Amino acid sequence: MVLGIDMDDTICSTNELIIAEADQYDKEVLGGTGVKDVNAYEFTEMMGWPEGMKGQFFKDRLGAIMSRTPIKPYARETINLLHDQGWEIVIISFRKDKYLDNPYKLTEDWLNMYGVKFDKLFVNTGTKEDECIENNVTLFIDDKESHCEDVANVGIDVLLFTNEYNHKETRFKRVDNWLEIYDYIKEKYNGGKSSN
Ligand SMILES: [Mg+2]
Repeated sequence: MVLGIDMDDTICSTNELIIAEADQYDKEVLGGTGVKDVNAYEFTEMMGWPEGMKGQFFKDRLGAIMSRTPIKPYARETINLLHDQGWEIVIISFRKDKYLDNPYKLTEDWLNMYGVKFDKLFVNTGTKEDECIENNVTLFIDDKESHCEDVANVGIDVLLFTNEYNHKETRFKRVDNWLEIYDYIKEKYNGGKSSN
């Protein structure tokens, strides 16, 4: 069986760090006062930045942010346990060349640094269902509703990892942490072990 997993805000906690860095960038580089509206859904609106500023900030800082984003509790333990039980681990990330010098290397280095076992890594993806189909993904996990929707639409089982922006979404089975993911897999797929 094959587990397809998103990176940011699924394996690691990226968004909080982006906001903290943007706050600092606004104050130190742009001479602003930091985050304007903590409750805004859109990042640009949250920062009160003009068009194009987000792209500039991402080009300047996203690589450094993503290289030190913290791993989510029990992500490594769960992924490595499932890998040892025979699951193929395929990491499917939206991280883009547009903002990062080498998103593959950056992500590979981070996974190796944390000792996360994986079989394949894709970056620069589009809507993610192509990678899921091509790699025979059994179960896909992502914090972004649109990715879950695209992958669920091709008949693949999906889990939505809770983040601060997706709490209104009700179409997908929701998980709040990696222990819940393990329980779901153990119950539904018998821990990935073959029953032959
Ligand atoms: Mg994500």
